[in-house]
Amino acid sequence: MDDSMTRLDTPTHEFGGEMIGPEDARFDDARGVWNAMIDRRPALIARCKTTDDVQTAVKLAVARDLPIAIRGGGHNVAGHAVCDGGVVVDLSHMRGVTVDASARVAKVQGGALWRDLDAATQAHGLATPGGLISDTGVAGLTLSGGIGWLRAQHGLAIDNLVAADVVTADGSLIHTSADENPELLWALQGGGGNFGVVVQFEFKLHSIGPEVMFAAPIYLVEDGPEPIRAWRDFLAEHGDRVGSLCEFSTAGGEDFPEEHWGKRVFTLACVFNGDAAEGEALLQPLRELGEMSADFSGRMNYCDVQQLFDALMPAGDFRCYWKARYLTDLKDEMIDLAMANALAAPSDNSLSSLWNFGGATAKVAADATAFGDRSMGWMYSLDGVWSDPGDDDANIAWSREGWSNSERFGHHGRAYLNFPGHGEDNAALTRTSFGQSYERLVEIKTKYDAQNRFRFNQNIAPET
Ligand SMILES: Cc1cc2nc3c(=O)[nH]c(=O)nc-3n(C[C@H](O)[C@H](O)[C@H](O)COP(=O)(O)OP(=O)(O)OC[C@H]3O[C@@H](n4cnc5c(N)ncnc54)[C@H](O)[C@@H]3O)c2cc1C
Repeated sequence: MDDSMTRLDTPTHEFGGEMIGPEDARFDDARGVWNAMIDRRPALIARCKTTDDVQTAVKLAVARDLPIAIRGGGHNVAGHAVCDGGVVVDLSHMRGVTVDASARVAKVQGGALWRDLDAATQAHGLATPGGLISDTGVAGLTLSGGIGWLRAQHGLAIDNLVAADVVTADGSLIHTSADENPELLWALQGGGGNFGVVVQFEFKLHSIGPEVMFAAPIYLVEDGPEPIRAWRDFLAEHGDRVGSLCEFSTAGGEDFPEEHWGKRVFTLACVFNGDAAEGEALLQPLRELGEMSADFSGRMNYCDVQQLFDALMPAGDFRCYWKARYLTDLKDEMIDLAMANALAAPSDNSLSSLWNFGGATAKVAADATAFGDRSMGWMYSLDGVWSDPGDDDANIAWSREGWSNSERFGHHGRAYLNFPGHGEDNAALTRTSFGQSYERLVEIKTKYDAQNRFRFNQNIAPET
């Protein structure tokens, strides 16, 4: 990288991280993200080590009038962490976590992964709600909501976000909390990466585990929908203590009887938000709803639960297209449709899931966070996952068709913006999904990023 890239005319600190340009041998690795389909070539990747580096990188992009993509964990399926021709502010070397156990607060750098945060907090018997896969970035997952196992008792990730430090589009560093720049905190609670680079998050923590009860009875799709109906009815009673999803997948490997290999199955996966022994007894009926194909249930450490699904989702191995919509409730017809969609998946690696809400997630007022309305009862997600580029069309069509054919069960047309397909419906979907939060988000976007420098996200266009 030539020297002019690292020394700027604008008043600045000397960049202390790594500047990686297209000629650099590290460029191809550095521009790769979790979804193997994404193939973008930024003008420059600024891999930062410090907040000063982030400020310098942002000022550099402004000086060259280039847009900025922000890389947290790099998991976004639309590939928003990388762009063509712009500057990538890469936070993958900023993964520090500090825990104040007595105040029950964790400070988390903007490139940390959930496994970093879980390990640091569980050392004190604490945790904050995250996602289901340990190498997803804390940043991207949190900024658009964050749906994980602890949502029943502790809400979404954003419901636990109490403060943040943000480098905005002019390179300044702004602290936001309930007392300082509170409108920015509100916007970060669901509004995505629109407002700047979050260099530090501050989360409140709860006593969790270390042992929790994880239930995962697995039934064959061909045996019918009764277990899913019973699970739905069970959650109507216990959804304020059980974070759960019914995940459709394909049986294979030594944990399943050989005669089931290649058949479609569903897992009634649950984490009891509370005492493990109490959870084991409470969740037992879900393991007695018919003949199971397999059963992965057991009491285990919270950090292990957080990594259980990792093997299904290795970074960079698969081509992916994911969509998700909220459902008002879970009707029998929607269950039948989810089963039919699962059977129709062209790839054995694809997953689709029904996620419950309610509990603490539903108790947050619609105007308390940018995420907005919490009255959806459920979510339906379709995760198209495959290997061969020749299968792209069939697999994308499967996710999109499942998305369309479930529309009649949807909740005001709203979608979970962390599963945004490849971003092709971005403007309309963002508008609809933010609902009543949208106008306020436009105001805040216009205040902090009037040039739309941060546009590789579920973009909120500033007023021109
Ligand atoms: C395998 C897998 C499992 C998943 N499981 C779940 C789950 O259980 N629950 C759930 O809710 N979601 C889940 N998701 C979706 C996930 O939340 C999104 O893909 C999210 O965008 C990933 O965040 P990231 O930081 O890894 O992504 P990145 O691709 O790095 O970034 C995503 C977006 O966030 C912005 N961003 C990233 N870092 C920052 C920052 N520091 N400051 C400002 N903006 C930033 C980026 O600009 C981009 O727009 C999963 C995704 C995958 C691939």
